[in-house]
Amino acid sequence: RDDLLVAEDLQMHFPIRRGLLRRKVGAVQAVDGLTFSVKRGETLSIVGESGCGKTTTGRLLTRLLEPTGGKVTLEGRDITHLSMSDMRPMRRDIQMIFQDPYSSLNPRHTVGTIVGAPYRLQKVDPPGGVKKAVQELLELVGLNPEHYNRYPHEFSGGQRQRIGIARTLALRPKLIVADEPVSALDVSIQAQVVNLLEDLQNEFDLTYVMIAHDLSVVRHVSDRVAVMYLGQIMEIADRTALYERPMHPYTVALLSAVPIPDTNRKNNRERIRLQGDVPSPINPPSGCRFHTRCWKAQEICKTVQPPLAELAPGHRAACHFPENTDKLTIDPTGVAS
Ligand code: SF4
Repeated sequence: RDDLLVAEDLQMHFPIRRGLLRRKVGAVQAVDGLTFSVKRGETLSIVGESGCGKTTTGRLLTRLLEPTGGKVTLEGRDITHLSMSDMRPMRRDIQMIFQDPYSSLNPRHTVGTIVGAPYRLQKVDPPGGVKKAVQELLELVGLNPEHYNRYPHEFSGGQRQRIGIARTLALRPKLIVADEPVSALDVSIQAQVVNLLEDLQNEFDLTYVMIAHDLSVVRHVSDRVAVMYLGQIMEIADRTALYERPMHPYTVALLSAVPIPDTNRKNNRERIRLQGDVPSPINPPSGCRFHTRCWKAQEICKTVQPPLAELAPGHRAACHFPENTDKLTIDPTGVAS
């Protein structure tokens, strides 16, 4: 598979300003040096605790935010600093599903207006007209085409998320960034929405970036998973490798909290409870950002930032003392052989 989207050394530092002159006194390092690619047709999940920068990352990839450093390319085209008007045609290719189906739909607009908005904004005239296209989209996401004239408050949370998904699909995007698309929904309907997203991916060759705070939610839908902590990627790997042979202690801790029914899995670890809270992204720890909470931390971890090194084919982790690498030889720069 070729790369659809590439992020290189992506950075988003929000300035903190104080006083009458609004002088810059610091910055929130929400995203700090992300490099990864999203392959055409895959689902890449980005997982981490709240405040790790995953939602900001989603907004940078969709260019709802302009990064303060680094680069984003879509099909080889640099979109990092495109103006709003230059970005408009690209919006057809990149769409976002928001976390909260309650606030992401305008309560004063009918379903028809909401789902048909992308056609109007992009000045696209679908065959058969906007109404017919919207009704087909509603059917596609499991809603009744007769819902066209109804309002968001008449629907349940799961149905509202389906309305949001229908709107996202209107222009047949290549990439959809879904920011915790099921976390605001009842557990009983989360699986239905996840299954719908999978069905749509198969039908329309969609590429997803799925943002989640919990490794259990994305286990079955991901091709690859990136684990973020304090604005940086700690580990990125194929799903099977990440869940069965996690290398970064933070991933190990997150996985220890996930009930995994797979009886073939040998590593039935005890639950690892991380000490303390995630440190502030205003003044993140030196060296390895995870060292203040890591049970394996040594002196070097406090001063030397470990590179996100490829420790096995396609499996990268940023740790001086990674787990599950007994068959690999790690040299001091973190490169496996
Ligand atoms: Fe823990 Fe050190 Fe690895 Fe960071 S580099 S995750 S502190 S062992």
